[in-house]
Amino acid sequence: MIHEILPVGPLQCNCSVVGDEASREAMVIDPGDDIEDVLALVRKHNLQVKQIVITHAHIDHVGGAMKLKAVTGAPILLNENDYELLKMLDTQAAWIGMRSPGEVTIDQSVKQADTLQAGSLSADVLHTPGHTEGSICLYFSAEKKLIAGDTLFAGSIGRTDLPGGSMKKIINSLHGKLLALPDETVVVPGHGPLTTIGEERESNPFLIKP
Ligand SMILES: [Zn+2]
Repeated sequence: MIHEILPVGPLQCNCSVVGDEASREAMVIDPGDDIEDVLALVRKHNLQVKQIVITHAHIDHVGGAMKLKAVTGAPILLNENDYELLKMLDTQAAWIGMRSPGEVTIDQSVKQADTLQAGSLSADVLHTPGHTEGSICLYFSAEKKLIAGDTLFAGSIGRTDLPGGSMKKIINSLHGKLLALPDETVVVPGHGPLTTIGEERESNPFLIKP
């Protein structure tokens, strides 16, 4: 598995470029910004981007999607429960003092238990509402790797005070779906350093049961 993680944009969203070494087919997850740098990684590994996957419709995760699509022709995938939030990109841009990326159009909705493929690589879609209604995580079971979006961070969890957020739902998602994964699963959060499910089960203050 080829896997490059590039923090992009002012909020340093972790953009993942995941590729199959044999077929060179790839998916890009959360191309929030800095698309020239993302494309440089794609070219460095001689990859063909087949899918652009958005973990949730916050501007720092989706802002560069249309630019990447224009170059690669790859479809943009997002869970439909975040379509409303996607219509608010101008408002989101104003919150953080960014320029709006303009309209982003989604080619396909992805939902719980869908499987996304790039060559021989396969990722299960986990619908994990809480940070937003349509938040998803991608679980590469063969590699035991989780792309967590803003649902889980090293030592923390996603904020739930923005529109569509719910503390009750994120806790349900974390306990019901993410903590069900093996301890050795490597977690790539939407921001900040990597961690593992075991480490978070053990020490994340939001997940330890009293
Ligand atoms: Zn977010």
